[in-house]
Amino acid sequence: VVAAFADDTCSKSDCPKMSTTERTFIAVKPDGVHRGLVGKIIARFEERGFKLVALKQLTASKSHLETHYQDLKDKPFFPSLIDYMSSGPVVAMVWQGLDAVKQGRAMLGATNPLASLPGTIRGDYAIQTGRNICHGSDSVDSANREIAHWFKQDEINDYASPFINSWVYE
Ligand code: ADP
Repeated sequence: VVAAFADDTCSKSDCPKMSTTERTFIAVKPDGVHRGLVGKIIARFEERGFKLVALKQLTASKSHLETHYQDLKDKPFFPSLIDYMSSGPVVAMVWQGLDAVKQGRAMLGATNPLASLPGTIRGDYAIQTGRNICHGSDSVDSANREIAHWFKQDEINDYASPFINSWVYE
């Protein structure tokens, strides 16, 4: 994981990836909710130092999920993906912090849990791609699109967190 991200490390002050206000959309999928993993997944992001700025539980409609996964609509697994994701509640969240999108993906692990390292969410809690517990935005553009798709503006909380500002960042 370290090697995979080494080339992307940006230390320039004008690099947009250095923003501590970067946001990513993370969701616990229905299998994660049924298996009682919501608290553990939230704890990983909290303990890492990311800031929770939005959270809700909902059972998403098929049309909502078809839009969310529009880039995958031609994949053979698309119908079963929509069935799975609409089969029960998901816990939708927005997490904020430095490099939140890329770090969120690293914390989730690979799409296929069997390719996920131990220590990642999928590497610790999942076995099959079709039951991989959690979603995380794969780019800043996707994150912005997904956050706007899942949350209204007034469901996202902008708040100062002096403890995080002082003790998570130098
Ligand atoms: P990720 O969720 O890691 O960004 P993708 O965007 O490629 O991965 O796929 C979205 C979701 O579709 C996956 O998380 C998984 O739930 C499902 N999926 C992807 N590939 C397969 C597959 N080959 N078989 C079944 N489900 C899949």
